[in-house]
Amino acid sequence: MVVRYDTRDEVAVVTMNRPEYRNAQNSAMTYALDEAFYRAAADDAVKVVVLAGAGDHFSAGHDIGTPGRDVDTSFDRRAGLWWDHVGKEGVDSRFARESEVYLGMCRRWRELPKPVIAMVQGACVAGGLMLAWCCDLIVAADDAFFADPVVRMGIPGVEYFAHPWVMGPRFAKEFLFTGDRVPAARARELGMVNHVVPRADLETETFALAARIARMPRLGLALTKKAVNQAEDLMGLRAGMDSVFGLHHAAHAHNAEVGADSLAGMTARSMKSKA
Ligand code: ZN
Repeated sequence: MVVRYDTRDEVAVVTMNRPEYRNAQNSAMTYALDEAFYRAAADDAVKVVVLAGAGDHFSAGHDIGTPGRDVDTSFDRRAGLWWDHVGKEGVDSRFARESEVYLGMCRRWRELPKPVIAMVQGACVAGGLMLAWCCDLIVAADDAFFADPVVRMGIPGVEYFAHPWVMGPRFAKEFLFTGDRVPAARARELGMVNHVVPRADLETETFALAARIARMPRLGLALTKKAVNQAEDLMGLRAGMDSVFGLHHAAHAHNAEVGADSLAGMTARSMKSKA
């Protein structure tokens, strides 16, 4: 099972479960996450959701090279009405796929009407950031680190372009220009992370916070979440992301036009070796 679903009292725990690939997200995982979030949203006994990653790392990002990579597989689309990407070419395929499994899914999950806490240890890189950022709170272990190295592919950041809103525009530029790893403590200084706790205490601290939040009334939490999300959208998050999604696809198309593929021929390994 690529995603596990458990409940602990009033808290649903959604766990990405590909630890052998540092929880690289293939589409099978994306749709399993969607299923799990849908279940947590619908279950009246669940007040708060925790998103976790099995093993030593939260998520190394989108799957760009494991044996379970499934970019050419069709799934029942959930995030929008755009057509299936399979059997199409170029932008016709790429825009459809990324609208659904990347931008669309993350936006859908951000709207889950219950508080969601990302519990982050180890790597939270590129596509991993998208999952942590669409959660409401982030509790990080002291060994967690954050990075978006996709500028190495000539691409201006991951599809869910929340960078300037979650860390401020000036640091967002440094984060993207360098692709450097930002340690948990620095991420907290920047306001991107709520709490940093010792690795050994990560679960205890996260579930203690979830339990405190779970004492609030369900509707109060849902309306409060929506209120802050609406404010964030009024600060330009949603419109900004839409405009950058176009630049992101210009970059993919440029790569495909002048080079080997839309990722500038980069693999997980070459991305790492260029760090
Ligand atoms: Zn992309």
